Amino acid sequence: MTMFMNFTEALNFNKKCPICNKKLKISKTNNDLLKDYKNKILFFYITTFSKNDLFTIDTNNGKFSYIELGPFKNNFKQNGKLLQALIIECTKCMMYNYTLQIHINLTDNKVDCLILNSETLSFIDNNELYKIKNIYTTDTTEFINVLQNKITKLPLILLDIKNINNTIDRVKNILPFL
Ligand SMILES: [Zn+2]
Repeated sequence: MTMFMNFTEALNFNKKCPICNKKLKISKTNNDLLKDYKNKILFFYITTFSKNDLFTIDTNNGKFSYIELGPFKNNFKQNGKLLQALIIECTKCMMYNYTLQIHINLTDNKVDCLILNSETLSFIDNNELYKIKNIYTTDTTEFINVLQNKITKLPLILLDIKNINNTIDRVKNILPFL
């Protein structure tokens, strides 16, 4: 499993899309995460029955701040952790992304660890859209036929992003034997 020392390392895991070469960006698709994209600051809104708490992480230096106190923080003092996903994606061709798992320690207000959760590569074959999703936390590769919503689970197949066709061929070769 790939663990990162800091956000700089995590956000530079892959700088460019392996398919179209466009610079990868922090995704705007996570609803529970508001972001200051320009300054690379993540905002985590945590809603409780009575109020919102707001946490921010500056991904430039990992600095954690806590803007509004609420009962939620106290609830978390026992187990003290919040897991948050952060997607880094290609916004041009939309065919590649990777997801980080951020372990936030709410007791100490810091990021405990940053893990590479998964990596997804899309491709079109015979007019069908497929995805190869590598989930590193469970050592599995999911081969997904997007339109048919059909998912085939495989043992982890390493993604060769320098030669994408290699990976696609390997997955296609394994599939007939399942
Ligand atoms: Zn791309």
